This record gives sequence, structure tokens and C-alpha cells, in this order.
Amino acid sequence: MLKVSRTKENPGRRFWGCANYQVKEGCNYFVWADSIYEEEDAEKVKLRKKVGSLKLKVKET
Ligand SMILES: [Zn+2]
Repeated sequence: MLKVSRTKENPGRRFWGCANYQVKEGCNYFVWADSIYEEEDAEKVKLRKKVGSLKLKVKET
């Protein structure tokens, strides 16, 4: 869920928070909306590494 930060440190900064973010005992997962592209890149790198290791396994067999 896209929310807006209201802390002194980051007033008005947008972030994606978990649906349960700061709800009772809900989880504290969130990511800044302006850094989401970096996060996506990191996922792609992870994926590429996975594909690489899969190819390696295929070669071995
Ligand atoms: Zn969550």
C-alpha cells in the first residue's frame, strides 16, 4: 500500500508499506517509493544469479 511518511526525518516522503504496517502487532515491512527501482534491480540481479546457477547445473548433468 502506498502511504505517506509523517515522521520528522522524512515528512511527506512516500513509501510502500505492508497492509499490516503499524497495525497493532502488524509487520513493519516498508520500502521508500523513490527507492523502489533500486529494489527491483536487486531482485533482477538475484534472478540472474539464479538462472546462472541453473545453467551450471544443466551443464554438469
Ligand atoms: Zn507484512
